[in-house]
Amino acid sequence: MSTLQPIRVTVWGEFRHEKNNPEVTAIYPDGIHEAIAAFLRPNADFSVRTAWLDQAENGLPQDLLDQTDVLVWWGHMAHREVSDEVVARAKSRVLEGMGLIALHSGHYAKIFKALMGTTCSLKWRESTDKERLWNIAPAHPITQGIGEYFEIPAEEMYGEPFGIPTPDELLFISWFTGGEVFRSGATWQRGHGRVFYFRPGHETYPTYYHPQVQQVITNAVRWARPTVCIPDACPNAAALEPLPEDPAAAVRPTQGFR
Ligand code: ZN
Repeated sequence: MSTLQPIRVTVWGEFRHEKNNPEVTAIYPDGIHEAIAAFLRPNADFSVRTAWLDQAENGLPQDLLDQTDVLVWWGHMAHREVSDEVVARAKSRVLEGMGLIALHSGHYAKIFKALMGTTCSLKWRESTDKERLWNIAPAHPITQGIGEYFEIPAEEMYGEPFGIPTPDELLFISWFTGGEVFRSGATWQRGHGRVFYFRPGHETYPTYYHPQVQQVITNAVRWARPTVCIPDACPNAAALEPLPEDPAAAVRPTQGFR
């Protein structure tokens, strides 16, 4: 893929808390997905659109997924309402090369759980903890511009144990005022696609306006862009070179073989 092609980003939001909870509406009047899209759009190398749960096919018809390089996912209260068919087609797209960025309560999204294959459970507490995210991979593309650590003044607590498979790369560890720690930024390769989980983003806090949170997600979009798109296939393959006419010759040990 040419580097001149913009990265086609789809920001998917559940878009329910923002309609049902005035506290959330006040922070994200156009939805969390639009707040995320708003800081991604100014990047000239991105082409950004949004989708949400209550649209037809949960906002993710096949043609839109086929034109998505990186899918950003925020969901919380209605994971079960995402159809299994939509989850299956999104998973197939990751396996063939699409990037997935799962945010906050997206740890329990069907698509994330399907790609992880584990419980993805964790400890949680809605309170007024401060979160300090330690950057433990300062050379990684996703942590560029972040510094040694950054803080979010108030966030929901997520604590270990986090039921994920051991990450390919662990980028952030969070500490919370209550004493817990959490693997808050982690990557996995799944098929030909890249997956990044990033913890912050509880709906009652203005976390997606935080400059370093925005920087991490922006960096992650660039990191997660596909390098290939290889649809699944399981072909019967013709030989590349002539095969021996005598089948026994194919299994006869070569001279010197012991
Ligand atoms: Zn939350």
